[in-house]
Amino acid sequence: MQKNLPKKIPVFDFILGAKEKELVNSCLKSSSISQGIYIKEFENKFSKFVNCKYGVTTTSGTTALHLACKTLGIKKGDEVLVSSSTNMASAFAVDYCGGIPIPIDIEKETWQMNVNKIKKKINKNTKAIMVVHLFGHPVDMNPILKIAKKYHLKIIEDCAEAHGVEYKGKKVGSIGDIGAFSFFANKTITCGEGGMIVTNSKKLAEKAQSLKNLSYGKINKFMHNDIGFNYRMPNISAAIGLGQLYKINKIFLEKKRIYSRYKKNLENISGINIPLIREWTTKYVMWVFNIYIDNNFPINRDKLVEKLKKKNIETRNAFVPINKQKVLIKKYKLFKESDCPNANYIMNNGLYLPSGNNIKNSQIDFVCNEILKI
Ligand SMILES: *Cc1c(COP(=O)(O)O)cnc(C)c1O
Repeated sequence: MQKNLPKKIPVFDFILGAKEKELVNSCLKSSSISQGIYIKEFENKFSKFVNCKYGVTTTSGTTALHLACKTLGIKKGDEVLVSSSTNMASAFAVDYCGGIPIPIDIEKETWQMNVNKIKKKINKNTKAIMVVHLFGHPVDMNPILKIAKKYHLKIIEDCAEAHGVEYKGKKVGSIGDIGAFSFFANKTITCGEGGMIVTNSKKLAEKAQSLKNLSYGKINKFMHNDIGFNYRMPNISAAIGLGQLYKINKIFLEKKRIYSRYKKNLENISGINIPLIREWTTKYVMWVFNIYIDNNFPINRDKLVEKLKKKNIETRNAFVPINKQKVLIKKYKLFKESDCPNANYIMNNGLYLPSGNNIKNSQIDFVCNEILKI
């Protein structure tokens, strides 16, 4: 059985090229493998790319989010309103500071934080809103800016899936107080492992630079200013990130190709839904290609995943939202599983299809054809 199985089609892959190798080799040659010149260069170039004055590299998207929360002063008992449907790193980052992530439901059509659900959750402990520009689609930021101003809340943008994405002509990451990016291998550009926070505030940038480097003292190095962290990105990783940044426009084109191809193939299949792109999106960068199925589809999501797997087609299910995480429910006793019905619906019915930058059009057609057959 399964003799003629086609080559596995992975959910993600990446394009590494000559530039990355050249820069990494130069780190090796000069023995600057931990700290070195590429870190500042990557911080400068990437922050400029997202229209921010300052960039602070970290070891991952998770540590970038933690550093963002810490830098903004999130502390014990503070509540942070977070898009419920997300990678749990968003919620954990708040918890690392002693804060409490409070889930906000999403819009079913876009999977993004529903801004109309925010005000109800604000109380005297609320200190910040963490928006997640999920899957490369921007959250509706103007209403959030208004709410934040009125209630004196900080805004953290989780941009781990949204490099280069624009909301009404503004780059995400530059709209709130601090933006946090990830450069994990499956993200739009990668360092292997890595992250960066971006901001237009000199004060916040300086505080973050200090905190991420153990808060060493300025006069006496070993008399520390604060309880800091070692979240330093190695020079080798920054070299890879820089190499990736040189080709980011090429990566955007591949993502556009993949999105258009899937969309054309799947948009008229009954029971298959493609998340909408709202009119405020001036640049959409499909991080991965998502669908969600409804009752018009003959089988449920899990059966679909199983069938595709038999054809060597890898998929990934939508996130289990914050409001469903038992460890968090138990710890805070501030929300319950049924709190975010749309996030729960997407958890059960959403998935993403193979979206690696190297996927061929013929492979996309093959995936779609297998879905069509069902
Ligand atoms: C990937 C991701 C993170 C975490 O980034 P890491 O680099 O894996 O730590 C955080 N938030 C979102 C939305 C992500 O997709």
